[in-house]
Amino acid sequence: MRRVGIGLLLLLLSLNSLAHQPHDHIEHETNHMLMDIIKPADSEISKILKIDYTNQPQQVFHLLSTDTPPAQTIRLSWQLRQSLDGLHLPTPVLVVNGAYEGPVMCLTAAIHGDELNGIEIVRRILHNLEPENLSGTVIGVPIVNLQGFHRSSRYLTDRRDLNRFFPGNPQGSSAARIAHSFFQEIIAHCDFLVDIHTGSALRTNLPQIRGNLYIPEVAAFAHAFGISVILHSEGTEGMLRHAAINAGIPAVTLEAGKSNTLQEPAIQHGVESILTMLDKLGIISNDHSGNLLESVYYRSEWVRADHGGILYGHVKLGEKVIKDMVLGVITDPITNLQSEIISPYDGQIIGMAVDQVVMPGFASFHIGIQDTERKIARMERLPEKQNVEKMTRTLESE
Ligand SMILES: [Zn+2]
Repeated sequence: MRRVGIGLLLLLLSLNSLAHQPHDHIEHETNHMLMDIIKPADSEISKILKIDYTNQPQQVFHLLSTDTPPAQTIRLSWQLRQSLDGLHLPTPVLVVNGAYEGPVMCLTAAIHGDELNGIEIVRRILHNLEPENLSGTVIGVPIVNLQGFHRSSRYLTDRRDLNRFFPGNPQGSSAARIAHSFFQEIIAHCDFLVDIHTGSALRTNLPQIRGNLYIPEVAAFAHAFGISVILHSEGTEGMLRHAAINAGIPAVTLEAGKSNTLQEPAIQHGVESILTMLDKLGIISNDHSGNLLESVYYRSEWVRADHGGILYGHVKLGEKVIKDMVLGVITDPITNLQSEIISPYDGQIIGMAVDQVVMPGFASFHIGIQDTERKIARMERLPEKQNVEKMTRTLESE
C-alpha cells in the first residue's frame, strides 16, 4: 500500500513539475548563472582571485623584522611586544619563500589551544614544501594560542576565546592585545588565509570548508580545496576569518575532526585538500588535483536532544539522512526510558556529538541542507585590501 502511495505521489509531483516547466526553467537559468559565479571552473579560479603569475624571480620576503631570501625556508617567532617573560611564549612561525613571484598564503591552527589536528596539518604541509619549486610565499603558524595549547585548553589563560577578539585592540584586554599583535604582524601580510579548526571534544566535524560564499572571491577560494563539503557561513564579529575578510583578505575555515586528539583520517584529508588548493592557485604544481564530488550547503541546522540521558548515535559522520530518520537514541540511565532523536530535515550529517551523557537541549547532530532559495540571496563585495600601515592607523584611532 505504502509503495503504491509513494509511486502515486511521485507521479503527481512529476506531473506538477511538467505543468510548471516554463517557470521552473527560468528559475533554473538564473540559478545556473549564479552557480557559475559561485562555483567557478578550475581555470577561472585564479582569474577571480586576481592571481597573475609572471614567472618572475621572487623578492626577499619581509616578516617579523626578518628577511627571508627567495627559495628558502625560515623559522621565526611571534611574540607580544609588551609581555611578561614566561607568560607569553614566542610562537613559532614558519615561512617558505618560493623561487618565483606569487601570492602570500597563510595557514593558521590552534587558535583554540586544544584543536590538535590543525597543528599536524600545518606541520606536514610546511615541512614538505619545496621552496625552489614554489611560486609565492606560504606562512604557517601551527599553534596560534600557545597559552591554551600548554594547558590542553581551548581558551587563553584568562578563559577568553581568542577567536572572538580579532582584529584586536592594542589598548584592550589581554586577548584583544594578543589578537591585535597577531593580526598586524602576521595576518595583514597575507593575501589568503586558511584558519584550521576542529569541533569540540564533545562533537566531531566532517572535514569541511566554511566561508562566506556570497563573496565571489571567497566562494572561488573555497572551491579550490576539492573538499567534499563546503558550508556557507558568514562567521561572526571577532572571528579571525571575519576580520580578515573585512581587511580584504579572502579567508576560509577548514574544519577537521574533534579536539584533544590526533585523528589520522582528518589530518590526511586536511593535508590533501590544502595541497589541492595550493596546486589550483598555482603556488605549487604537482599531482594534487583531488576533485571530490562536492556538496555545497547554504544552510545548516543543529538537531537538539529533547531529553537527558546517554546518547548513542545511529548515524555516521558524512551520512546522508532523510526527514523522520532516527539519528540517535537517548536512554535515561535511571528509568531506562528511551527516546529517539528524529531528523526534521533531508540532508547530510556534517557534525555530530560523540556518544556521551547529554542534557535536554544539547546540540547533537549538525545537518547540511540543500536550500536553493538561500543560495541566490545576494552577492557581497570583498573590500579592497588595505596595506598594513593604513590598518594600524584605523585600529589605533578606534
Ligand atoms: Zn576552533
